[in-house]
Amino acid sequence: MTWQPNIHASLFLNTYEYMAKTSALDDIDALMKAYRLYAEQISTCGLEPLLTITRAWRLVKFVDANMLAMTRCSKCGGHFVTEPYENARHFECGLCTPPARAGKGAVAGGILLH
Ligand SMILES: [Zn+2]
Repeated sequence: MTWQPNIHASLFLNTYEYMAKTSALDDIDALMKAYRLYAEQISTCGLEPLLTITRAWRLVKFVDANMLAMTRCSKCGGHFVTEPYENARHFECGLCTPPARAGKGAVAGGILLH
């Protein structure tokens, strides 16, 4: 399993959206809670969290502004951060199809790494 920045972003956003939907937390509390869960899950896997809280917040804002979206993987059914114009029906995530070419998920990766 490869843990690219996109997977980190996706893991965090899935947790965040779940928090925001299922609790009465306001945005910042949902963010803090989701971030803590994300960091826990990552360290359980023996990995360092790539995402910082600042980047996690920026990610949420990008999704709010429709600059990024969550797209369902046609193979594993997981939800991943992609650019919104991604053809949802044919989308395969970075775990099912590790990207040979740069480009897919470059925006999400860029947020995390720069
Ligand atoms: Zn997949």
